Amino acid sequence: MIFLGTGIKSPYELYRWQVEALDFLKNSKSKIKILESPTGSGKTLVSLIYALEDCDNCKIVFLTRTNSQVENVFRESRLLGLKKVISFMGRGETCLFKKVNPEMREGDPEEQSRLCQRLVKDRMEGKEGCFYETDYDMGWVADIMRPQDLVNLGDQFGFCPYFAQRELLKDAKVVVSTYSYLLSPYIRERFMDWIETPMEKIIVIFDEAHNVPEFLRMINSASFSVADINKARDEVEKYGDKTFNNLSLSLSLNYIEEALEYIFSDGPRILTPDDAKEAFMKSFSSGTIEISRLLEQMVYVGEGIKEMKLNEGKLPRSYIYRTAVLSQLLMEDSGAEFVRIVDDSEQRINLRFLDVSNQLNFLKQFKSVLFISGTLTPFEKFKDELGIEEANERAISVPYLESNLRVLYTDEVNLSYYKRLESEEKLLEILEDFINRTSYNTMVLATSYEQLSKIRDLNFKRKIFFERKNITNLELADMIESFKQNGGVLMGVINGRLSEGLDLPGKFLEVAIIAGIPYPKPSPETNAMETYYDMKFKKGWYYAYEAVAIMKLKQALGRLIRSPKDRGVAIILDSRAKRFKKALPNLYRSENLVEDTVNFLNQ
Ligand code: SF4
Repeated sequence: MIFLGTGIKSPYELYRWQVEALDFLKNSKSKIKILESPTGSGKTLVSLIYALEDCDNCKIVFLTRTNSQVENVFRESRLLGLKKVISFMGRGETCLFKKVNPEMREGDPEEQSRLCQRLVKDRMEGKEGCFYETDYDMGWVADIMRPQDLVNLGDQFGFCPYFAQRELLKDAKVVVSTYSYLLSPYIRERFMDWIETPMEKIIVIFDEAHNVPEFLRMINSASFSVADINKARDEVEKYGDKTFNNLSLSLSLNYIEEALEYIFSDGPRILTPDDAKEAFMKSFSSGTIEISRLLEQMVYVGEGIKEMKLNEGKLPRSYIYRTAVLSQLLMEDSGAEFVRIVDDSEQRINLRFLDVSNQLNFLKQFKSVLFISGTLTPFEKFKDELGIEEANERAISVPYLESNLRVLYTDEVNLSYYKRLESEEKLLEILEDFINRTSYNTMVLATSYEQLSKIRDLNFKRKIFFERKNITNLELADMIESFKQNGGVLMGVINGRLSEGLDLPGKFLEVAIIAGIPYPKPSPETNAMETYYDMKFKKGWYYAYEAVAIMKLKQALGRLIRSPKDRGVAIILDSRAKRFKKALPNLYRSENLVEDTVNFLNQ
């Protein structure tokens, strides 16, 4: 146990790169600190130590992208001997009443919150409602309270774990939660009320922070399809039809569907508000003022249905409301930061938010904010996207990556648009040969499911584990467990779930093969991103394609080296890999992939 000052005890003497990271955090003057440090380098521990040293009488809010990543924070908190550490999870994970009312499993936080309030109120008024106690008085039963601990206790003693978390938040030192609690405005407002600590006394840490821009885009985006209109029709059937200005609700829904069909008939593209207005005017045979009045009436009807559903003990959700709001959004002029992408194959219009640069202005009010990840460079893109003007940033390099990771590429394959056809066969040939002549536990990441199915059909002499497109979490976990026990070749796609967050230390994974450069697929959406980046930063291609490929490559390589003891070889089957020499310093051209891999791993 090593003392680091102000009473903080580190479980071990920090490595040189951890000391460098800690010094950077302590010495950086800006409130916002951006730290890139490879997977397995101990950045969670370092950021907690920094925050604790800087946090006299204040709170640390540690945010991860997914619920499953919080375990890592608990592990480090345990090592540091911390007290009053609590996770804060939504009702979807902690509500006990969902066994009685399965509606509480579904829905967004706002819908769950409204239904929960109604169920509690009903119980208080002596009606049938949620019977779990919302007052919590057991205090800190353990130093670290994980969601499952509170769920088990709540089940045993009859209290609501969600409300118990809220009570403990006030007095917690470290709160571990997911991005939504700060990044979604609706939840943030409430979370800050419950935490009862002024913002200037809170240090926020965003883990795996490379996900923050996309997360912000995702929570501000929506998609609109004919399936929504069909569900709206079910509501008309159940709650009754209504007529406004001689037009019934059911007929209006027919006209909206017709407008979408006009839109889909012109194929995939970026839809302008004028195109959308034209399609709606054509199907309704009336002007935009009448259509917009009608949509407002539909919103009003939808609000009424939400209330009726609450009375029935259901989530306050209305598809008439949703159809009307999304129709309004299609026709609204909302500037270049928001695009409507027509996906005719899925019969869907994706309303995609592009510009998230003004979403994080509130961060300035916190004592300090740390963004940490193994892949944040180029920092310029990360800061531009999030509108961060003032920050200190540092990329920490670790000596073990230099010596323990070898990245090889071959000149025999080039999957660029013009050379793809002649190279594809060669790629499959090299892959089959490599896998059949080696026995290392290997992961193969294809750049698409189409390519993955061609790879799967090769003649392998080893056990293959294959990530299907719609594989469930449970099936994926079973497959990974079986791969760990039996060894073999694990196959997935670079945008799938194997390329990020997978933990296969040591001999569990020694070789990772990336079948091409993971540039985003050209699509109306990627084109829109490129145009937006060009307009805003004059870096369209670089931000929309090049920087994304660098990040995905680094994420995939991160699967190989999980700790200073791991050793691995990554193989990029594409000669264009040489463009990334600056981002991947230990990249070498190989003329014999099998020999170079064996030589390196047997050293
Ligand atoms: S009070 Fe708790 S258990 Fe009851 S409905 Fe709300 S979240 Fe669920």
